[in-house]
Amino acid sequence: MAFDGDDQVDGLSGFLMVSLKPGNISNSSNSDHAVQTSRHATIRNNLVPLKIVIFIWRVLKRRIPVCTEIDKRGIDLDSVRCPLCDDDVESIDHALFFCRHSMDIWERVYKWWNLGSVTNLSVNEAFRGNANRTLTNLGSRIWQALEWTCGYLMWKNWNNKVFGNKCWSGPTALMEIQLKSFEWISAHVKDRKIDWLDWMSNPLNYCI
Ligand SMILES: [Zn+2]
Repeated sequence: MAFDGDDQVDGLSGFLMVSLKPGNISNSSNSDHAVQTSRHATIRNNLVPLKIVIFIWRVLKRRIPVCTEIDKRGIDLDSVRCPLCDDDVESIDHALFFCRHSMDIWERVYKWWNLGSVTNLSVNEAFRGNANRTLTNLGSRIWQALEWTCGYLMWKNWNNKVFGNKCWSGPTALMEIQLKSFEWISAHVKDRKIDWLDWMSNPLNYCI
């Protein structure tokens, strides 16, 4: 069974399709990219397309079809172990962070940002929090948009690796993250022009 990026619900059982649908989506002004996560909570970041916000909503709601989530929904699998490394079960945290294939990409991103070692301990910590005291308000939104972009592209390419045997790692992965994050963030930041060469050499400058 292959799950592919935006179309990840296709091919699943009706039960699973219902369980993967997002909550209330707000895109009325084309600039308010927000999804309600509970009665009183909404996630939003207007620097990335709405599809990224919806993806993050799915992650936070544990509605990404990794083996452990499929297994919880009563669908029998031969194994729930990570098909790439076999070091652990294929959970959402493992696929998006802790698998050595994913961690290698996060380490490259942190190095690009001059941030030292990767500090996130879970997808919740990485994707939900956006209040970094050392960054400006805009900077926190840019960093969150970058993390969300990484997570989205990581998942989009995860199944290509698992089912298609296609390589998405190292410099190729980092370059796609750099290109996509620049394309989305520079198009949506209104009060500051983001320059491609500066973005590549020191993106943190836009955040402090
Ligand atoms: Zn793994």
